[in-house]
Amino acid sequence: MNCEVVAVGTELLLGQIVDTNSSWIGEQLALAGIDSYLQTKVGDNWGRIRTAISDALERSDAVIVCGGLGPTQDDITRDVIAEVMGVPLEEDPEVVERLMEIFGSHGRTMPANNLRQAMVPVGATRIAQQPGTAPGLICPVGDKVVFAVPGVPYEMKEMVTGTVLPELRRRAGDTGALRSRTLRTWGQSESGLAEILAPRIDELDQQGHATIAFLASGIEGLKVRVTAKADTGEEADAVLEREVELLTEVLGDIVFSTDDDTMEVVVNDLLRTAGLSVGVAESLTGGLVASRLTAAPGASDVVRGGVVAYASDVKFDLLGVPEGPVVTEECAAAMAEGICRVVGSDVGLATTGVAGPTAQEGVQPGTVFIASHLDGVTETAMMRLPGGRDQVAQYTVISLLDHLRRRLLAR
Ligand code: ATP
Ligand code: MG
Repeated sequence: MNCEVVAVGTELLLGQIVDTNSSWIGEQLALAGIDSYLQTKVGDNWGRIRTAISDALERSDAVIVCGGLGPTQDDITRDVIAEVMGVPLEEDPEVVERLMEIFGSHGRTMPANNLRQAMVPVGATRIAQQPGTAPGLICPVGDKVVFAVPGVPYEMKEMVTGTVLPELRRRAGDTGALRSRTLRTWGQSESGLAEILAPRIDELDQQGHATIAFLASGIEGLKVRVTAKADTGEEADAVLEREVELLTEVLGDIVFSTDDDTMEVVVNDLLRTAGLSVGVAESLTGGLVASRLTAAPGASDVVRGGVVAYASDVKFDLLGVPEGPVVTEECAAAMAEGICRVVGSDVGLATTGVAGPTAQEGVQPGTVFIASHLDGVTETAMMRLPGGRDQVAQYTVISLLDHLRRRLLAR
């Protein structure tokens, strides 16, 4: 089974949008063991989309077309596919009904253009998942197949995971189960991680029942994804369970989640389990720490509140920081202790530093102090961070969350 990807959209060619859909689909195909040798990007142009799809069908067993399923005049993917199939389009009453419902529930009347989305090539079937207004399509062409999925990434992902990949594997005669788990790590470089895992990756290559892939997620660290193939789902899960355990042992405390959780979710869970509440005093991060902690579901169990103490006198007057320089370890420590009093929390977190671009109080940009107050003990750390203002702030946030995570684990 071999499958090509055609990404549709003039904005992809103009560089206004980065074609992350194709790379994501490519990765999923590889994980599912489906060969994929070519990806094409094409503008919203009838003739060129037609050629792209027809050419892909000559070379491959299956084609995934993403984008151009919307309601506007330049969304012509479904029309072009009908032409490639050599069939007319017909209105699908169920889609019409669903579109009416979506618009009705928002108290709007549906623009006539949206009915375009209900036009389905004769012989095509709809993809069951429909997170947006655009239905995805399975379009048989002889013994080959074209899948049409929307350009909107989360809609596309739901359809590819839920229908396209299982259908491709079914067509490939691959009936086994394929499962994956994602470990998230923070604090190690990609090459460092690769070196630590190299022996295990080699072993797995020889055994052939599981594979490991790295995914960089920028400032959020590196993901390590383990994928297992077996006859049944239970067997695949059992392989994964063993592998995740082994990898966690090898990697140690840089692993912060074995279920693809974000750092803030992990920290909130640890706080909740320990029955601790948290308060945050932030200078250079300007509320980003509080924002991330409150973004995690169930944050109200643990987050008491926060203060953005940006000006020095706010640090002194509100948080009780002793007057003096404020880009120091002492200041961070006093902020972490002060916030516990101000918001009445068990744990206090604090950030202070120079985000840049210019030095402040003679301190170089990127100089940051973080602190945590926990069980009556205040710990601080100093960091020299590279990058611009935003990067320094974001890096500070994740470092502080990881610092608290480690302290909570060490209790
Ligand atoms: P819609 O119903 O939203 O019009 P559509 O299927 O017509 O869906 P497009 O109009 O092609 O999809 O794209 C919608 C949005 O999805 C784009 O504005 C862009 O943000 C995103 N998008 C489209 N194609 C890609 C791609 N290849 N990679 C990443 N994002 C994309
Ligand atoms: Mg569109």
